[in-house]
Amino acid sequence: MPFTDQPPLDRARAAFLAHFARPPRLVAAAPGRVNLIGEHTDYNDGFVLPIAIDRRTVVCIDWSLDSTTHIHAADLNASVDLPALNSLRPDPSLSLDADAARIRTGSWVSYAAGVLANLAAALPTLAARGVDLTIASSVPLGSGLSSSASLEVAVATAAAALVGASISPRDLAALCRDAEHRFAGVPCGIMDQYIAAMGRHDHALLIACRTQAAELVAMPGADRAEVVVMDSRVKHALASGQYAERRDTCRAACRVMGIDSLRDASPELLALHAPGARSPAALSPVEHARARHIISENARTLAAAQALRAGDLEEVGRLMLASHSSLRDDYQVSCPELDTLVDLAAQVPGVFGARMTGGGFGGCAIALATPDAAERLARDIPAAYRARHTLPRGTDARVFVTTACDGARVIA
Ligand code: ADP
Ligand code: MG
Repeated sequence: MPFTDQPPLDRARAAFLAHFARPPRLVAAAPGRVNLIGEHTDYNDGFVLPIAIDRRTVVCIDWSLDSTTHIHAADLNASVDLPALNSLRPDPSLSLDADAARIRTGSWVSYAAGVLANLAAALPTLAARGVDLTIASSVPLGSGLSSSASLEVAVATAAAALVGASISPRDLAALCRDAEHRFAGVPCGIMDQYIAAMGRHDHALLIACRTQAAELVAMPGADRAEVVVMDSRVKHALASGQYAERRDTCRAACRVMGIDSLRDASPELLALHAPGARSPAALSPVEHARARHIISENARTLAAAQALRAGDLEEVGRLMLASHSSLRDDYQVSCPELDTLVDLAAQVPGVFGARMTGGGFGGCAIALATPDAAERLARDIPAAYRARHTLPRGTDARVFVTTACDGARVIA
């Protein structure tokens, strides 16, 4: 499984040798990510500010010897054989179909197969020849660190390089996102694939979700600040229903205020429609709170990008803490475990700020900290967290330190 000590490069290579009895022709990798700030803003046409992290998915690839595509996932110890890549179709039915071209929506295969199918539609050589491919990752699966996009972008980078096609990072990301929508059945935004494709060492990526414009934002180097990722190891079941409910409430708030998206709302417009207002139409207290989070979070995200550029880490930290409070109180997507991780981290000297990251109801929190404080968090958080919460059997908070890393590339 991921998080073995053996690097994913070694595992992907060893798997390739074992399964295909020759070394790979090409190796590519793409990182996971955390979002520094800008939560639940993506589907409201707002701003997000992710970094690529020091965990990645590695893909080894060569042309197939028999025109069938063979994929082996080392983390799952699972293999699959696929027919012509331009014949693959997503299949949402749960029954496994006799037709090998039908890919079960959401299965692990759907992520890699969707990307290969999308690429093959544009690259006939890929469709005709097929590939041998192995995957190994150090991004924990399903923890909100975007193992899915790192897998998609690594597969796309490897396959495009094998064909010799040059595809811009932006187009590559779009193709991967489309694969996640259609084959994996996940209606994700563009953030995960963008940062996996375009991340840069010591930079965050400010993405304007409405225009999909992306701008690298220089961060102070690792000697001044590191990012600590604290995985709560819990995922509360209500997450997906709550997610849909938040989207609906945001849309309802827009209708009341007469705007297309909350990106167009201002604090002044919100005040005009405060609960109890006679005219114009009033928001319900819940709509008001949800909208207030989105409006304030967009402002915080832009301010955080500005503070990063200015090297003002104290200000970035303050904005992160304010973001967490807003997600907890106004948007109500935090949970006791995430609140604990943020509270514990915020007490440590040298921590600039901390917040939950991702959709909420579990998953990860992050802290921005000096290298000394980051080391201390990595050492002390698991025990302090365990003392306050009962974790699923055999698990512990997983804490690691990262800096902003490069996006996808061919590595060998
Ligand atoms: P996240 O992207 O936050 O890690 P997702 O639920 O979006 O969580 O994606 C996780 C899914 O992506 C896994 O359940 C699996 O199907 C697929 N996946 C991700 N990484 C790998 C991998 N290394 N090998 C095989 N499948 C993977
Ligand atoms: Mg994902």
